[in-house]
Amino acid sequence: AEQTHIRNFSIIAHVDHGKTTLSDRLLEVTQTLSSREMRAQTLDAMDLEREKGITIKMHPVRLEYTAKDGQQYALHMIDCPGHVDFSYEVSRSLQACEGALLIVDASQGIEAQTLANVYLALENNLEIIPILNKIDLPGAEVERVSEEVEHVLGLPREEIILASGKEGTGVPEILEAIVARIPPPRGKNEAPARALIFDSQYNAYKGVIAYIRVVDGTIRTGDKLRLMGTDVLTEAMEIGFFRPGMVAGQALSAGEVGYIATGLKSVRDCQVGDTITLIDNAATESLAPYEPAKPMVFAGLYPVDSGDYTLLRDALDKLRLNDAALSFEPETSAALGFGFRAGFLGLLHMEIVQERLEREYNIDLLITAPSVEYQVLTNAGEILIIDNPSELPDVGMIDQIEEPMMAISIIVPTRYIGVVMELVTGKRGVFQSMDYLDKERVVLKYEIPLSEIVVDFYDSLKSRTQGYASLDYHLSSYRASDLVKLDVLVNGTPVDALSMITHRDNAYRQGRQLVEKLQKLIPRQMFEVPIQAAVGSRVIARETIRAMRKDVLSKCYGGDISRKRKLLEKQKEGKKRMKMVGNVEIPQDAFMAVLKLD
Ligand code: GDP
Repeated sequence: AEQTHIRNFSIIAHVDHGKTTLSDRLLEVTQTLSSREMRAQTLDAMDLEREKGITIKMHPVRLEYTAKDGQQYALHMIDCPGHVDFSYEVSRSLQACEGALLIVDASQGIEAQTLANVYLALENNLEIIPILNKIDLPGAEVERVSEEVEHVLGLPREEIILASGKEGTGVPEILEAIVARIPPPRGKNEAPARALIFDSQYNAYKGVIAYIRVVDGTIRTGDKLRLMGTDVLTEAMEIGFFRPGMVAGQALSAGEVGYIATGLKSVRDCQVGDTITLIDNAATESLAPYEPAKPMVFAGLYPVDSGDYTLLRDALDKLRLNDAALSFEPETSAALGFGFRAGFLGLLHMEIVQERLEREYNIDLLITAPSVEYQVLTNAGEILIIDNPSELPDVGMIDQIEEPMMAISIIVPTRYIGVVMELVTGKRGVFQSMDYLDKERVVLKYEIPLSEIVVDFYDSLKSRTQGYASLDYHLSSYRASDLVKLDVLVNGTPVDALSMITHRDNAYRQGRQLVEKLQKLIPRQMFEVPIQAAVGSRVIARETIRAMRKDVLSKCYGGDISRKRKLLEKQKEGKKRMKMVGNVEIPQDAFMAVLKLD
């Protein structure tokens, strides 16, 4: 299509504000696909995401729309991921567009992710079309939320479209606004080709499929390609549009959005944010500074049955084909044996990987408590990057430890300000600012160590505010803190997989809690087992697991063989998720106990 007849837009919405429903309507009205077909399409791949309450990320779609002016337009709809773990991808999706639909639930108002994504959209100079959705609800507060949109986001009230994805209200107005308000792309048709990769997916038949926005020039089927960031060379095996399934065509030209089947074997070679150009007549400058996805949270993954090690490695290899953000390398633990240290974008990402390994590959996993990445400056002037607490050098060798800090913003009704402050301060958060969105809601900003919010923070925030708070965060800096390593000794043996790095002020309390928890979680053995928490060589807490009094089997001394066998089998079941450490059996729960400390 001619660039004057192309519009590229993204959809920004907080979870549950109605993005899926409204986009289904757009597809229906433009007769791209019936709602049922659309749903079937998006659902299968994304079960897990749905279960976790994340909005489904939809394929990009090309809609063909005949506007009131009688002209036909190609509208490319590109979706943003709905979760903060994936914010780098959000910014790349936005970069592929000239405009964005901002959907706000009229019964709720602006939320933290709405705000964060609007700022990103404004930074990218996108034209924003504000939409108040769900106006059919009796609880819709059109007046209050319009006020919020105008005041907080600075978008004029006259520009707001009132809509109901459920009933179809406002949908024709939205389509007209896309054509009238969003500027057409202005790429150079004759310049060397440049296309931005805003998503990529591994396909068993076609290799990696790059989802691209062509900015300049034209890319044709069969063209020899170069990825400018990774310097990977390949070929455009197939090129086409999303309708919303992949429909092959001949070429994609300036302004258009579609896909290229690259034949590459792993998404690592074809990462989001990279620029594609042609080998002949290559562009010299890439479209955006390219950063490969950076893991923020690390954990040890160990097969419960050490015989599953190869299985686990193969499964991780397969997952990595389609997940550029997943990283892993072999790791050995004195306590747990052979396994892997894996890096994730965030806790949600970690949960998704864990569940896929268990569900799709049927591997019983033992996962250690997640850790963040510390920068350790040694006396010798070296900087060590430590993502596994057990690898922290001796205290005597450390000059300083820096930890990653996050900038977080929380939107909450004013009546919860107190509980939020209490929660955040208890986690070493440092107050930055408080701004009123309206009379009843505020944005609170803090700097807080990543290690304090990796686990459980979002859940605590939600439960303390009865679900009203929303949260957004991003990495802000590394900062020196008074951190120490807390070790755990079971029966006198240090268990490396239970070590954690924590603030000195919290070490005593956490050590105490940890040994108390472990005392309950580790089953009694035939002998007495002391459990100790130590900082350096100093033991700061101790509990003892008393020896088992009677042999469990003696219960059935009547000699009923089958009962005995059942009992033994039951014990074996229970052992599935246990690891022998020294001569003590430690269950998986114990390794996760570190997560549940206050
Ligand atoms: P997403 O998470 O932003 O994709 O939101 P969905 O489209 O999945 O919608 C979330 C919930 O809101 C679902 O239960 C929808 O049925 C409901 N919903 C979506 N749009 C509307 C609307 O316009 N009116 C009403 N009453 N409910 C809606």
